[in-house]
Amino acid sequence: MKLTKNFAAATMLAGVATAFSFLSAGTAQAQGALVMYCGVQEEWCRAMTTAFERETGIKVAMTRKSSGEIYAQVKAEAANPRADIWWGGTGDPHMQAAEEDLTVEYKSPKNEELQDWAVRQWEQAKHRTIGIYSGALGFGYNTELIKSKGVEPKCWADLLTPKLKDEVQMADPNSSGTAYTLLATIIQIMGEEKGFEYLKALHKNVNQYTKSGAAPAKAMALGETTVGIAFMHDIVTMVVDKAPIKVVAPCEGTGYEIGSMSIIKGAKNMDNAKKFYDWALTPAAQKLGAEAKSYQVPSNKSTPVPPEAPKLNEIKLINFDFAKYGSSEERKRLLSKWDNEVKNLP
Ligand code: PLP
Repeated sequence: MKLTKNFAAATMLAGVATAFSFLSAGTAQAQGALVMYCGVQEEWCRAMTTAFERETGIKVAMTRKSSGEIYAQVKAEAANPRADIWWGGTGDPHMQAAEEDLTVEYKSPKNEELQDWAVRQWEQAKHRTIGIYSGALGFGYNTELIKSKGVEPKCWADLLTPKLKDEVQMADPNSSGTAYTLLATIIQIMGEEKGFEYLKALHKNVNQYTKSGAAPAKAMALGETTVGIAFMHDIVTMVVDKAPIKVVAPCEGTGYEIGSMSIIKGAKNMDNAKKFYDWALTPAAQKLGAEAKSYQVPSNKSTPVPPEAPKLNEIKLINFDFAKYGSSEERKRLLSKWDNEVKNLP
């Protein structure tokens, strides 16, 4: 009897829930929907989703993935695209997608409010992707764990010391835009031959190639790795959370990213994708990054730069060739060379 009563109550509740979900699906349909692939940290992705829904009433279905994974998914879905907008992640796979006709040209009225580097990205991609933030690559170390190692790395070269065997973590450049930025940075600093020699030597000290670029920063904070290679702003997030970590801008110089945004070709919600695109370039949307503890430099000149953001003008930045390293041929070639010559080494 009790069981039956509970069952009846559960059925009634399920009915109510279904009615609600029909209602909300109806509302979403009335006001439109948007499918977003999001390439930054989960917290920031969620903040953007919620704020855009609140602002417009457009229901957002968001999926968070790493930069290279989103590119692979967009390419795999090209015949029947599921996503409308690809927001965030490093610029290189956005550039590759632009070249491969997976994304569309768009000129936002907000373009004139943006930093030169953001607009240059748009021009180089023939108007198919645009810069939304920028940040420099670097590494960090756990100040507690490093004590027993007898080193204090300041340069990329310092990461090769046998004292750091199995103590360095980085991501896999196939999935991670952060790690691809490292690959392209090392080659631009050292030349391709010496650069690959460096990456092979570094491999001896790498304990794990993670899927996501920010994972090594988190692992450092948890004491799971002594050194982590990541974007400096991702490491700063851990420092803000009081992890015992020192952030390093490597002495030889370093590369940087132009985090980008693109509209997917064949988007089913094209008008909403453009609405999101314009909104995402406003200071109101861009300041959500810092609120979600993501400390990049935003692309709208009027968005306040978070005080925690590593100062790009104080870091020795290389003259990063985004067009070359974002080109389809070069990106494919370098990734397959890295797979063959580095990843599969014992
Ligand atoms: N999260 C943040 C805060 C970033 O700045 C970036 C780079 O654009 C990413 C994530 C990209 O991550 P991944 O290296 O996993 O592609």
